[in-house]
Order: sequence, then C-alpha cells, then structure tokens
Amino acid sequence: MKRIGNLIVIESPQNSKVPYSRSLFIDSPEGVLIDSGAKPEALLEIDKEFGIGLIMNTHYHPDHTQYGYLFPDAEKRINPVEFETARSMKNVANEYGILQELDQKAYQKWLDTVPSRWEQSLQQISGAYEYNKEYSFGGVKVIFLHTPGHTKGLACPYFPEEGVVFTVDYDMSSFGPWYNGTDGDIDQFIKSGLMLLELDADTYITGHHKGILSKNEFAEAMKKYLAVIDKREEKIEKHVRMGLTFEELANVGIFYPKHILEKEPLYRVWERSGIRKHLQRMGLSVPEKEKSIN
Ligand SMILES: [Zn+2]
Repeated sequence: MKRIGNLIVIESPQNSKVPYSRSLFIDSPEGVLIDSGAKPEALLEIDKEFGIGLIMNTHYHPDHTQYGYLFPDAEKRINPVEFETARSMKNVANEYGILQELDQKAYQKWLDTVPSRWEQSLQQISGAYEYNKEYSFGGVKVIFLHTPGHTKGLACPYFPEEGVVFTVDYDMSSFGPWYNGTDGDIDQFIKSGLMLLELDADTYITGHHKGILSKNEFAEAMKKYLAVIDKREEKIEKHVRMGLTFEELANVGIFYPKHILEKEPLYRVWERSGIRKHLQRMGLSVPEKEKSIN
C-alpha cells in the first residue's frame, strides 16, 4: 500500500487487473473508501486499522463495487446518474448491453450467474454524491468529476490540493478504452480523457494496470490508449469493405480475442455492442439478421 499524504492506494494482485480494481482510502475521521473492488483482504485490513465509514463508488461495475457488502455498517454512495441503475439487476443489464444483445433465455442465464456479493453491495448503496462539489474529509478536499464515456455516470475523483486524480477505468491498458455497454460513448470517452489531462495535477492513479503516473507519463500513455480507437475503426472498415454481415463482423475479434468470444456470452455482448457504436460513429451499416444472441 502506498501513501500520498492522507491518501492510501490499495493494490490488488496482477496490478489490480480485472476482476479487481485499485481502491483509494482517505485517512480521515469519516474513513472514506473510494471504490470497493480491491482484494477483500486488503480492504479488511484497512477497515481494521482505520475504520471504513463511507464508501464512494465511482460507477456501478462489479470490479469497482463488489466488496462493499463486507462493510454493512458503512454508508455507501454512487454517482447521481447511476444511483437508479444500481437499484436493480435489470437496470444494470440494460446499461451493460445485455438486454440489447441477449434473448430472454440468455438474459435469465446471465442473471443466475451474477455474484450475490455484487448484487448485495449495489443494494446497500443508499444515496448519491454530487458531481463537481468540493467535499472535505479530514481536511482532504475531493471533487467527483463527471467523466462520461466508459459509462454514462463515471466519476473520476480529483484531489486539487494534492494534485492527484484517480482515473478509474482510464487504465491505460494495451486493451484500450472500454465503452462497450449500452451506456458507453466513444466520443465522450475521448472528451473526458482529454479533460483529465487539463487538470492541475501531477499524479494520476489508474484503477487497473499502470498504477501511479506523472502528468507527462499519463499524457504519453493517453495518446497510445486513445489511438486504439482508430485501430479498431481501421479493422472494422476493412471488414465492412469485404462485405461481412454483422454476425460475421461480430466474430472477427475487434475488441476481444476469438477464443474468449467463443467461451463467454458476456464478451460477445460487449463485442457486438462495441461494434454497433463504431459503425454508427463511422456512418456505416451492414446487413443483420438476428437481433439477439443466446
Ligand atoms: Zn468500469
């Protein structure tokens, strides 16, 4: 665990790779945990040493919210756009792309596989925080910036006095940007990412992978990261020119490797949903027979 002033960075195995994420803790009388997706042992240790009293979730995704249930007495909040989303798994399925891409039977099957710890953690969220308001915990100021694109409501916490930004799913991974739920948006993703670079900050903490970067390192990484979007479009355009149908295009492996697409229906959902966004952005259309998969 690394400390930056009163901020503690909580790490997970493999550079906090999915299914975990990095969490931040504000050492303060309120005991504020930002995201509860770090490995449970590390979170429990923080609770034992400092006491977790308030959990602020940046967005509803499981890798950022799933261990909230371990702290039933802590107050839990999420961004105002996604408070309703977190109310039910049907709402989640809607934003996740599942209702758009799966038939009823496959949706039911997905529901059966939802980890109860995630559902329980979301159910315990009792309210929303405000975007752009300056909160102060034990003298540590934090502003939850609205950074839509990855999801509609994603918030990136910014600590103006420390010059620190928690960039959550701007993770600078080689996979590239993830905007594959129905609530994701490619252009907003780019816009929010560039906005993060404009902040008066020199320490960028990613929610997965890289970890702690200087502004220059983050800016360099952002160039490569956003360039993945163009590479995806080149690949899609090439295959559209070859006359592929939507089904064929969805099996090429634009986002995910083919072997993963064959194994996991959820990845097929995100592959399809992601391709739809790019086709629309590029003004292209391809023939499509089946509207949903099973
Ligand atoms: Zn996410």
